[in-house]
Amino acid sequence: MDAFWGPDFDMLGRTDPEIAAIVLGELDRQRSGLQLIASENFTSPAVLAALGSTLTNKYAEGYPGARYYGGCGQVDQAEELGVRRARELFGAEHANLQPHSGTAANLAAYAALVQPGDTVLAMDLPHGGHLSHGSRVNFSGKWFHHVGYPVRPDTELIDYDEVRDLALAHRPALIICGATAYPRLIDFAAFRSIADEVGAYLMVDAAHLIGLVAGLAVPSPVPHADVVTCTTHKVLRGPRGGMILCRAELARRVDKAVFPFTQGGPMMHVIAAKAVALREASQPEFRGYAGQVVANARALAEGLAAEGMRPVAGGTDTHLALADLRELGVSGSTAEGRCDRARITLNKNAIPYDPELPTVASGIRVGTPCVTTQGMREGEMRRIAGLIGRAVRDEPGAVADEVAELVRDFPAYGRQEVFA
Ligand SMILES: *Cc1c(COP(=O)(O)O)cnc(C)c1O
Repeated sequence: MDAFWGPDFDMLGRTDPEIAAIVLGELDRQRSGLQLIASENFTSPAVLAALGSTLTNKYAEGYPGARYYGGCGQVDQAEELGVRRARELFGAEHANLQPHSGTAANLAAYAALVQPGDTVLAMDLPHGGHLSHGSRVNFSGKWFHHVGYPVRPDTELIDYDEVRDLALAHRPALIICGATAYPRLIDFAAFRSIADEVGAYLMVDAAHLIGLVAGLAVPSPVPHADVVTCTTHKVLRGPRGGMILCRAELARRVDKAVFPFTQGGPMMHVIAAKAVALREASQPEFRGYAGQVVANARALAEGLAAEGMRPVAGGTDTHLALADLRELGVSGSTAEGRCDRARITLNKNAIPYDPELPTVASGIRVGTPCVTTQGMREGEMRRIAGLIGRAVRDEPGAVADEVAELVRDFPAYGRQEVFA
């Protein structure tokens, strides 16, 4: 199989044919189907090159100019460049690129802002929140007192009056907004004023959104939040990892919460790859990309509605859509399995007030970061919606063949121009 970093693959194949076969098999899987997981994307060859570099060998506990080890001259420059690019791109006073993941960034943000036992007000997990926003199986629900806010049953939108009532009743030390499965815009200014009213910190978990913020496709949380946490591997299209943006007066607390409080040595190869992704995301082309991601998500949600799958919250303003499948009489888990057989990768997802168990779920979640990176537009989204409809209804006919035909015209890692 052709691969753009072929020489390394040849060497890997000689050293470890079993792992080489798996790596190539995964590349083939990513290329030969439709990737509609809302939290995934295809990083550029340049990001992959930084990730696969010898920067992985370097221990660099600490921060640029203040490391525990010698020999950090090169990696210091990489981290300084990445931090500068993040601050410029998002207009943030301070940035920390060391968190190993989104959850690690959230752990550090809690450590910087609150004490164990403090009350934290965050979106309920079944309504679109994240495990690290107070789930009982996560540190956030075990070490902190979680109070959840739901979405309204009628509109499936956040009810800011209800958030305010909960904040006044429970006096949280920290309020969190930002979600994994909320398709509409969040009113960060409304959250800011609620946090100010009760004297709470405001943390925005922009894991999903930060790439759309970079591409100016949605409003930025940075002017409103005390701390913004995010991932770098979702719409932003960088390497797997986390990032924290904050105001200058919290910089020291955030940095110390990341290292030495919750992490050891930073992954310098990943930090260099984050710097590459931030450079890519600051190019004018990325604005076109982010805008197209949203336009594609709208077209996909409308297409699914035409197939009898009700868009949760009436549609989307972002890169993802949730669809309620109850009218079709198919569960989310059955739909996920049927789509998987047609080489359409998406996930089952609870809808607000879902009567089913989370393992079954009444809905699916779809996202457009990957297919947009491949160069697809609204016309392809309408076609994909039709393919999903046929797969979900289990209609006879070769949906998988049509998927193969579609991705042949828009190959992932086939033409480097798609990243231009
Ligand atoms: C994806 C996500 C995270 C976690 O990121 P990981 O890198 O998987 O730990 C955190 N918060 C939200 C809202 C997310 O969507």
